[in-house]
Amino acid sequence: MEEENFRDSIGTITKEGKRAWIFPKKPSGRFYQYRKYVSYGLLLFLLASPFIKINGNQFLLFNVLERRFNIFGFPFWPQDFHLVVVSMIIGVIFIALFTVAYGRIFCGWMCPQTIFMEMVFRRIEFWIDGDRGAQIRLDKAPWNGKKIGKRVLKWTVFFIISFLIANVFLAYLIGSDKLIRYIIDGPMAHLGTMVPLLIFTAVFYFVFAWFREQVCIIACPYGRLQGVLLDDKSIVVAYDHKRGEGESGRKKFRKNEDRDALGHGDCIDCFQCVNVCPTGIDIRNGTQLECVNCTACIDECDHIMDSINKPRGLIRYASEDEITKKAKFRFTPRMKGYTAVLTVLIGLLIGMLFLRNELEANILRLPGQLYERKADNIISNVYTYKLMNKTSKDIEDVTFKLHSHKGTIKMVSHDSFMVPAQELAEGTLFIEINNSALTGDKDKLEIGVYSGGKLIETTITQFLAPRSYN
Ligand code: SF4
Ligand code: SF4
Repeated sequence: MEEENFRDSIGTITKEGKRAWIFPKKPSGRFYQYRKYVSYGLLLFLLASPFIKINGNQFLLFNVLERRFNIFGFPFWPQDFHLVVVSMIIGVIFIALFTVAYGRIFCGWMCPQTIFMEMVFRRIEFWIDGDRGAQIRLDKAPWNGKKIGKRVLKWTVFFIISFLIANVFLAYLIGSDKLIRYIIDGPMAHLGTMVPLLIFTAVFYFVFAWFREQVCIIACPYGRLQGVLLDDKSIVVAYDHKRGEGESGRKKFRKNEDRDALGHGDCIDCFQCVNVCPTGIDIRNGTQLECVNCTACIDECDHIMDSINKPRGLIRYASEDEITKKAKFRFTPRMKGYTAVLTVLIGLLIGMLFLRNELEANILRLPGQLYERKADNIISNVYTYKLMNKTSKDIEDVTFKLHSHKGTIKMVSHDSFMVPAQELAEGTLFIEINNSALTGDKDKLEIGVYSGGKLIETTITQFLAPRSYN
């Protein structure tokens, strides 16, 4: 029971309930090197995406306030919300499937929190404060000139980077063109934006300078889901307890001692895997909620295994079944189920994307208005139209034609008009139909929207007529 105590509290809280500050050792090794390369690519993608344009559209834009979204250069509108919902469901199922099979690979390799924390802020910390030992000594040291100098330097650099991240974040929200214009105009000209920018900066600073690994341990909902997603077949960063403990358990390394004969495992209890862990856990206790699968302990233990001439991989990517039953990776029924649902949803999304109209047309009767009787048995209804151009090109010479009935469409202003790129065109029109051509008091009309005489969209609306005439 004693060794299970680590499950009662998280690694970053002391017995007294205070914050246990983690001073992880600087990682090194092949996985850390690969992670560095991945992080460079992702950082470039994250920082450049709001500034890249495709056909004049920002590559990624999430303008919630003006309800304009660009994904990979394709503009999406609130009318395309169903596509966003399907994409989000696909995202969730994909992550669930991926997690069931490969654990928290996303957390260790791709999550922006890990990338910024471990590959940007932590590396600056190593550069200014030194490695684990130097950081612990500095933390305990009195506030002398050296400590104040290092702290001021570190916090200033952290603040500047947080401010830069906040600017990029803002470029995703309001668009990079607007952001650049605001920067040129100066902060005083746009105080309404400067204040949220400083709030974002403060949040990023708080997260990366103080809150740190607790985002993954306490706040992240994905982290919370691990308990239900992982099983004995999921591949995670795992300690091979069979090999590490042997018959007689782990033991400190002693020169010229025959560990095999004494039944001791390969773990020499050096604590390097614990010291390097950015979430402060001991992976030898098994899979834990705090583990973000960052692979730092794999690299560290591999160094140790090299130094004592044992094979690498005492800590490695493996499933619990692989370690205990020597079972190989298997595609479980749960994974098959997730894959089937995922395939159907991706097919649905692709279909919806192809069927997505470039122009969204809505023609609705003016609220509160009844029909009007005119001479020669003509009934007239008044409508408002709204045409949303979702493309990055103007749609010229737009006209309407009645498809379902014989009748006329009378525009209040011009007969033909233009819908500017990514804009909304709206106006009023009358539809007049001879009552003899109507089949009831609420006929459905099909109206064609034409550009330069070419049909580009059809829409349905309702036409009211007097009941007694039918
Ligand atoms: S680094 Fe490897 S050998 Fe050292 S304590 Fe961790 S598991 Fe054992
Ligand atoms: S246990 Fe290993 S993989 Fe998990 S967070 Fe700690 S160092 Fe990273």
